[in-house]
Amino acid sequence: MRVAIVGAGPAGIYTADILTRAVPTATVDIFDRLPTPYGLIRYGVAPDHPRIKEIITALHHVLDDPRIRFIGNVDYGVDVKPEELDQFYDATVIATGADKDRELAIPGIDLPGSFGAADFVSWYDGHPDVPRDWPLTATRVAVIGAGNVAVDVARVLAKTADELLETEIPDNVHQRLMTSPVTDVHLFSRRGPGQVKFTPQELRELDESPNVEVIVHPEGMEFDEGSLARIRAKRSVKMCVDILQNWAARTPTARTRNLHLHFLEAPVEILGQGRVTGLRTETQELTGDGSVRGTGVYTDWDVQAVYRAIGYLSRPIADLPFDAATGTVPHDAGRVLGLDGDRIPGRYVSGWIKRGPVGLIGHTKKDASETVASLLADLPGKQTASTHPADMLAHLARRGITHTTWAGWQQLDRHEIELGRPHGRTRVKVVPRQDMIDISSVR
Ligand code: NAP
Repeated sequence: MRVAIVGAGPAGIYTADILTRAVPTATVDIFDRLPTPYGLIRYGVAPDHPRIKEIITALHHVLDDPRIRFIGNVDYGVDVKPEELDQFYDATVIATGADKDRELAIPGIDLPGSFGAADFVSWYDGHPDVPRDWPLTATRVAVIGAGNVAVDVARVLAKTADELLETEIPDNVHQRLMTSPVTDVHLFSRRGPGQVKFTPQELRELDESPNVEVIVHPEGMEFDEGSLARIRAKRSVKMCVDILQNWAARTPTARTRNLHLHFLEAPVEILGQGRVTGLRTETQELTGDGSVRGTGVYTDWDVQAVYRAIGYLSRPIADLPFDAATGTVPHDAGRVLGLDGDRIPGRYVSGWIKRGPVGLIGHTKKDASETVASLLADLPGKQTASTHPADMLAHLARRGITHTTWAGWQQLDRHEIELGRPHGRTRVKVVPRQDMIDISSVR
């Protein structure tokens, strides 16, 4: 059995792992439009989260398996069409994840100074396809959202550049962060502390910088019956609430930067003529079941930049139906469904493109297992691909497409680690795409 997986992030790699464990004779090619593997672990996890990056060690073992090939720098739908893959593989699993920002339809959202968190994360993680520079000129900044991405963005904005220097941030990111004049970062949750989406460890980390004072504003620290039920039902929510209540009760000390947490404030307008000069929020009240309604009380916050961290969104996939509201491909247990509800043979989905951008990296495994089970039930052990593994690479060469390989990635990996060594850093990321390809290609 020969299977193509599109997307070399955790979802794609776990799918390859589970498939090759289940069918020892199966071979898998994992394509990625980036020259490097690991998807959001390399380009989504914050640089000061090395523990999460340790998942890379487990994923590395999977990609080291000779039955699994990494084929990078190949954009599905552009460089290779779905029907071309059909010539070489029995099935294609789409595991492209979600890397765009969910839209926030409020006036002023397009003003300069209004940013999507995913773009900012891509910048500080050195993604090759985003602008190299980022305007960090605001002294007061708003972050919208109460999930882990909002926490990442608020933390990276509030910390001093030198606190991040020991991490793998690219040099240009460190240089720009050094110039940031920020003094106050305000994080706004539209609902109460009982409805946060943060996880406790990530929330706690906000308070670990010696330069940042975390201030919980007491006005929104309210709970209704729905909040109490959620706190009782979910230990992680209770832990977050306990942390927030402790912070709300303490007396702030003077530090260079303040990180304010506001609850029950929903964004309604980004203010400014030609650039962001403020954010207007409407105070919310809990309705009893954990949802909120506006009170008609508005506050204008004096900020010069607004980051929305209200969730990720997937990109539509060549040739496949796409539910724009959920940002997912319609499926039945991982089998892609057409608009008529019928299965599209040979097409499967796994990860965030399948279930939406929720859950931690480990949750992707269960999801991959379901997809692999469906695929194996549809292709019961028979070998149908009549081509040789070398044929795909020959096809790419004929099309003039330069691809990167697993061996190439290992070369680039060593190079980045070497770049960091003299400075006592874990690595220094290479950012330009062509540089990554060139370093990967040296023999
Ligand atoms: P998320 O967890 O879904 O959080 C989105 C937040 O945005 C929620 O607080 C939501 O509030 C709010 N929001 C949505 N629409 C809004 C609107 N129109 N106005 C104001 N607020 C709005 O999404 P995420 O933070 O992007 O994270 C995605 C996934 O990645 C999560 O599973 C997360 O845990 C994971 N992640 C993990 C880590 C880590 O482990 N370190 C780091 C980053 C991301 P409501 O609840 O009211 O809708």
